[in-house]
Amino acid sequence: MSIQSLVRRAGCAALLLLPSLAAADDAGRLPAGVRPTFEAITLDLDPAQAGYTGSVRVELEVEKPLSTFSFHAEEMEVTSLKLAGAAGAVAAQHAPAALGQHTVTTGAPLAAGRYVLEVAFKNDYSTQGLSLYKMTAGGEAYLFTQFEADEARGAFPCWDAPEFKFPYQMTLRVPAALLALSNTPIEKETTEGGTRTVAFAKTPPLPSYLLAVAVGPLETVDVPGTSIPTRVVTPKGASALAADAVRVTPPILAALEKYFGRKYPYAKLDLIAVPEYWYGAMENPGAIVYRDIFLLLDPKGSTSRDRLGLVAITAHEIAHMWFGDLVTMKWWDDLWLNESFASWMGNKVTNEAFPEFKLPSTEVENVQGAMRSDARPSTRSIRQPVKPTDNIIAGADELAYQKGQSVLGMVEAWLGEAAFRKGVLAYLSAHEWKNATAADLFSALSKASGQDVPAVLDTFLSQPGVPLVAVEGVAGRTVTLSQKRFVNAGAEVLSGRWRIPVGLRYKDAAGVHRQTTLLSGERSTATLPGRGAVEWVYPNSGEDGYYRWSVPTAMLQALATSPDHLSLSERVGLVGNLSALLDAGTLDGGAYLGLLRLLARDPEPEVVAAVLTGLRRVKDTFITVETQEPFAAYVREALTPALRRFGMEKKAGETESVSALRPDLLLWLGADGGDAQVRAAALTWARAWMKDPAAVDPTVAGTALRLAALQGDRALFDEYVQRIDRSTVPTQRALLVDALGYFRDPKVVDAALAYAASGTLRPTEMFAIPGDVGSAVENQERPYQFMEQNYGLLKERLPEPVLAFMPRFAAGCSEERLQRAQKFFTQPEHVVPGTDRQLAKVTEAVKDCTRLRTREGGQVNTFLRAGR
Ligand SMILES: [Zn+2]
Repeated sequence: MSIQSLVRRAGCAALLLLPSLAAADDAGRLPAGVRPTFEAITLDLDPAQAGYTGSVRVELEVEKPLSTFSFHAEEMEVTSLKLAGAAGAVAAQHAPAALGQHTVTTGAPLAAGRYVLEVAFKNDYSTQGLSLYKMTAGGEAYLFTQFEADEARGAFPCWDAPEFKFPYQMTLRVPAALLALSNTPIEKETTEGGTRTVAFAKTPPLPSYLLAVAVGPLETVDVPGTSIPTRVVTPKGASALAADAVRVTPPILAALEKYFGRKYPYAKLDLIAVPEYWYGAMENPGAIVYRDIFLLLDPKGSTSRDRLGLVAITAHEIAHMWFGDLVTMKWWDDLWLNESFASWMGNKVTNEAFPEFKLPSTEVENVQGAMRSDARPSTRSIRQPVKPTDNIIAGADELAYQKGQSVLGMVEAWLGEAAFRKGVLAYLSAHEWKNATAADLFSALSKASGQDVPAVLDTFLSQPGVPLVAVEGVAGRTVTLSQKRFVNAGAEVLSGRWRIPVGLRYKDAAGVHRQTTLLSGERSTATLPGRGAVEWVYPNSGEDGYYRWSVPTAMLQALATSPDHLSLSERVGLVGNLSALLDAGTLDGGAYLGLLRLLARDPEPEVVAAVLTGLRRVKDTFITVETQEPFAAYVREALTPALRRFGMEKKAGETESVSALRPDLLLWLGADGGDAQVRAAALTWARAWMKDPAAVDPTVAGTALRLAALQGDRALFDEYVQRIDRSTVPTQRALLVDALGYFRDPKVVDAALAYAASGTLRPTEMFAIPGDVGSAVENQERPYQFMEQNYGLLKERLPEPVLAFMPRFAAGCSEERLQRAQKFFTQPEHVVPGTDRQLAKVTEAVKDCTRLRTREGGQVNTFLRAGR
């Protein structure tokens, strides 16, 4: 799955209390002794209705004599249940049990052997975007599914855990005018009396969380040039928006087939666009589901970022077809590996098939966020026992995606690409169509490389935190390195020790070199090959390593003032690492602002984008209504040269990265920089866009609408709202919704927040407006107020796994707001599984922020007031 920020305001994250070292709690897991080997599911589905009926027929292997067993069937009414063995029908009682289970009890114990269980049931569709759910768009009703992690049990009776991996066969009875889809091709269909019965081919072995169904007035567009039948599937009237997906999918699929050295494992592939969907996308074999804005791009108006999102998400999901689907984790405690691997592989393939996006340097930037949360005392090790009652999806956070991906990349750089791939392929062929664990992958990597891979990985996976590698000094050709756990100044963490493949880039009389050394002790020295004295060392060559670093002050100054010898990824990493040094208290706030302004001169847009992330942190931490003016002057001074270099408007032949940076640069200068010229240009573009969206460079349209809102009145607000109602292009609708949070007239701010809570928007769209409102310094309290005031509505419209994220509205730098949140989220009616963990993460982040402000606020203000 790919998780796009649910709550965009969330700038902060870290994890709950220190990990419990107890073994996994088995409460909620199905008792052993009965294993299904096949399940046929028949569903009578009509999206026009509120509910549906269905039946399942499950072939079971009873492994030992028993008189009771359980399966999952949550919140549905079981209308009949029959059990039969070789000798005929078996009398059985049944009843709902706790934790979504349903228990069957037989009069006499069942002998070991084969049985058939038949269950009929009736149920309501979910309306919260999870399980089997109903939604409407453009006046039409649709049914879609999202089963990961444990939502299949809400749709039909099943054995709902990844270790139960066996074939299914789906049959859907739907109104004849509608299209029905599932994981496999249609084997047989018949129509009678207005009802179409669609029998899909039997699936290969699958876990329940990967099953999928879609029903509605759907349209399809064929994707030519792939090894299996491939289509883009859209809601009614949207098939004209599939062109980009049709174009990018074949090269992604081909690159993955090449890496894995085998064909795509399933019989067909549908990429399905869903207007109301909580996550980025989901890797159901043969039926990948996307949130519509990530799959359907406007052929006349897509931005560089839209295109990168489409490519990266598609590569991530298709990578799962091998890693996750063909070979599945045995239990959710390896979900992190499932996501880490797909993220790592997806990025590798994106970069191979679409190098113009320069994804590796963007990823360096993304890993910074994981390192920031991993620095906090409340972080926890990436590998954790997962209980069935946990909020499994919220548990797979930025550590699962970005840290895990970065650690895998570090190991690949250490072992070499060929040995790493050999290990991955051996793992896949040993476990294909079955389950496996992380240990299976690590031992395959060890065998392929001859290195002790678990010894390195264990230190990154089984203990919390991020290491700090320090270059203590360089004498001649000898460099002294040390390691300790990275910690933000004023926080206390337990110590740690890692085995770190440290990549050193360094310069001497013979040129610039790279050397990897394995740092396992607290301190070690390495003699570097080359000629003459070593002039400088950059301690994370290629930014391949998952660690923070420091060098002596003079060397840091030299690296920052003339970074010409560093690669693009290293320059991006340098900017992120400076921010960490600020957190650690080894760089003061004034020096940090000076270096950020210096690094904004970098010729590459990715480095400037990293500077913008730094500016965001400065703003969120230090800037008040009083310091807004000097901060605006600083922003103009730092960023105007970059805007001059890259230009206000798109130039013919410019790179994707320049096009991707421009809207952010303009937004910073226009909003926080108060740049009059940028604001005036934005007004002109916004007016032109309202007349004809095709008349404006699509990459700057969103920024233009936001900056126009910033200067706009109620009439403009009403016009945006009317256009949202009329919009038929998902990405255009998203631009308008995002712009509503940028109005600054207090009465219009009230109107925007009321609109967000009015029920007009889809639940998945409700958070953009309060998040954007809070980006104005004077409105920082509003997002949290919005959440608290509308909690009843949120509870009604959001599924629990999403509701768990609500504490993130308390993010920022206010202890007072945090205390309110701590009070609010201890009231039982505001707690769902996972709330405590999000609250703990936010608590740490707010404390870090206030400590940093107390420590460096004076330096920052002095710098801003003096302009230097
Ligand atoms: Zn994924």
